[in-house]
Amino acid sequence: MAYNNKREVIIIGGGLAGLTAALHLSNHNLKICLIEKNEYPHHKVCGEYISNEVLPYLSSLGIDPFSIGAKRISKFEITDSKGFPLKADLPLGGFGISRYAFDNLLFEAIKDKVEIIFDTVEKVIFKENIFTVTTQRKDVLYADFVIGAFGKRSNIDFFLNRRFMKQPSPWLAVKTHYDFDFDEDTVALHNFNGGYCGLSKTETNTVNACYLTTFKSFKKYGDIDTFQKKELSKNPFLDEFFKKAKPVFKKPLTISQISFQKKEPVENHIFMIGDSAGLIHPLCGNGMAMAIRSAQLFSELFLKAFQKSDFDRNNLEKEYSNHWQKEFGSRLKTGRFIQRILMNPLSSKLGFSMAKSIPSLIPKLIEKTHGSPIK
Ligand SMILES: Cc1cc2nc3c(=O)[nH]c(=O)nc-3n(C[C@H](O)[C@H](O)[C@H](O)COP(=O)(O)OP(=O)(O)OC[C@H]3O[C@@H](n4cnc5c(N)ncnc54)[C@H](O)[C@@H]3O)c2cc1C
Repeated sequence: MAYNNKREVIIIGGGLAGLTAALHLSNHNLKICLIEKNEYPHHKVCGEYISNEVLPYLSSLGIDPFSIGAKRISKFEITDSKGFPLKADLPLGGFGISRYAFDNLLFEAIKDKVEIIFDTVEKVIFKENIFTVTTQRKDVLYADFVIGAFGKRSNIDFFLNRRFMKQPSPWLAVKTHYDFDFDEDTVALHNFNGGYCGLSKTETNTVNACYLTTFKSFKKYGDIDTFQKKELSKNPFLDEFFKKAKPVFKKPLTISQISFQKKEPVENHIFMIGDSAGLIHPLCGNGMAMAIRSAQLFSELFLKAFQKSDFDRNNLEKEYSNHWQKEFGSRLKTGRFIQRILMNPLSSKLGFSMAKSIPSLIPKLIEKTHGSPIK
């Protein structure tokens, strides 16, 4: 069968992972087609603090987040649910930037080099070494390779019958930008019963407040306003914040059914990058860096393998899975461990008093959930 409109690579999803992979691969003259369901720019639920480990790589791609006003962040503050504070310097530091601006910066960098289709992918079928990708508007596209960059939970996960979709995902998250007097060099993580709330400044000078909680904690109150007043405000820092801060959005952005279950980096011959391959607990503040790093990891392995005359798809799949596990496996494990400690009142109390008497503990834990600067 002749495939008239066959692409070399189709990337499904244009968040940080998909956009970065599109930029990297198109810089090496590959014909990339990126399919994203939403037009740019758009807001996303995210803490919007990103580790500096991505800066050298972004710079190699010609991307400079400070050119659009990203805030440099070097300090970390954490409080327990009663407001007991601990402070630490961030080992590597990071920056604050809204996803509205950051994703759009990458989109602007690829829009003239990459074929971009704004549509929702509904089906991806691999047969006889070719992918058939069908969209909601019933376009049918063919490709040699498909990269899955469709985020933490997508209709494609359901279509592929991925294992994590059958497991419980009891988390929900809420985000709004606020006008509030807040140190721009600081990222704060304030705990409350059943969750935690991150605060950091964005390029617009507004403070992003983004919290994650369990559905069980939230459902006692039923609406965001009451939940914030009755539960989050038990932490005196959050109480002050929600009393004084002025929301900039008309209404908060929310997402639910967030899953931190294990996923496979390759499924149905699709190379998964970013959250499609695995989501780290947001309290580690490292999901965005992992999305960018996994795009780099895949792109480099792919380009190397693709140049060989004896290219073997199965080998590349194995190699990518192994590299992915080596790079991210232990970060995800540490993330799960810290999450368990913080969500249990007893172990959280113990953890806070240990961190108080051993000040090097917090930077050590942060290092364990982050990578080194990526070249
Ligand atoms: C509450 C919360 C707070 C967080 N805070 C931080 C933080 O402070 N720092 C940090 O580093 N990380 C944080 N993270 C993690 C971070 O947001 C993610 O790791 C990051 O967004 C992953 O990028 P991605 O490109 O993989 O996915 P996404 O950015 O989610 O992009 C996926 C894209 O795929 C598109 N898509 C999905 N399905 C389809 C389809 N069928 N067809 C076409 N397009 C599709 C979507 O529209 C979307 O644009 C947080 C996560 C949560 C839940």
